[in-house]
Amino acid sequence: MNSVFLHAENIACLSCGNNAEIAQTGLFDTRFGIRAAYSIARCSVCGFEQTTPLPSPEEIKSLYESYYNFGGENGTIYTRLRRLFLSSLLYRFWMILDGDISFHSKHGSGRLLDVGCNEGRGLAIYKMNGFSAEGLELNENAANVARSLGFVVHTQLVETFEPSELYDVVVLSNVLEHSLDPSRMMVHVNRLLRPGGEVWISCPNNRSWLRSVFGRYWINWHVPFHVSHFSAETLRGLLRKKGFTVVDAKQCTPALWVAHSIVSRFFARSGKPTKQLRNPVLIMLLISLIRGLFFPLLWVGNFRGRGDCLIVAASKK
Ligand SMILES: [Zn+2]
Repeated sequence: MNSVFLHAENIACLSCGNNAEIAQTGLFDTRFGIRAAYSIARCSVCGFEQTTPLPSPEEIKSLYESYYNFGGENGTIYTRLRRLFLSSLLYRFWMILDGDISFHSKHGSGRLLDVGCNEGRGLAIYKMNGFSAEGLELNENAANVARSLGFVVHTQLVETFEPSELYDVVVLSNVLEHSLDPSRMMVHVNRLLRPGGEVWISCPNNRSWLRSVFGRYWINWHVPFHVSHFSAETLRGLLRKKGFTVVDAKQCTPALWVAHSIVSRFFARSGKPTKQLRNPVLIMLLISLIRGLFFPLLWVGNFRGRGDCLIVAASKK
């Protein structure tokens, strides 16, 4: 197997700087078929886990441009149906059953910043729920779609963004695990919040029971895009160090994520894109089976702290 990223040797923990050691090997990109091999390193002091070798900032930027580029799809039947679903009662009901990893069921008021807002689907829901919502989005195509819906979207990194006014809420919905420097990101999230303001974080749980079931095929490894692999403890530790107090912590296991892990287990091959992940019939069928038949397993997993997704709200001290 070709490894395009060769800088590995001494691994410093991204959370505390101490030495990290290889904990799991043989990982590969199970979605896009990027030809490279990865491992997971675990810090011997704080227990934090990270992808290794780490892509450089230049490499990760080019990977995002190649694989994550939003093409500007807007106003098609698919996007209209999706918008209709997201504003429907059915979606509210689904969030109760399946979990709310994007904080779409939270109502409130004040200034909210959605980091990585894409084309503004979340912004529309936060607005509907009472917030004055703005976004950060580096992809200009996606940012422009959100702006066309009437939202203020800043094409900036959290680390360099200078807002005219502080925020009451910053949303990191499946964002923090992508950061090459999660500690630094949280310092700047703290800077963007007013005292008492809250950060809402969702990210995969590296203590998920599905990690043990699916091994290297667990969809949430998502190497090399997922850099940090948090547990409830390591996330709480990072938040504490960066001046936050956890005010709410729970877990959920989205049926879509389980469906993706199953598809990955059966179809993913190193160096090849997994087309079945984009097969709507197969994915809908699996979601129905998982949610309809295996829901007790998912609930027990969540209850025992072994759910697939961590959902945390923390307030700035
Ligand atoms: Zn550490």
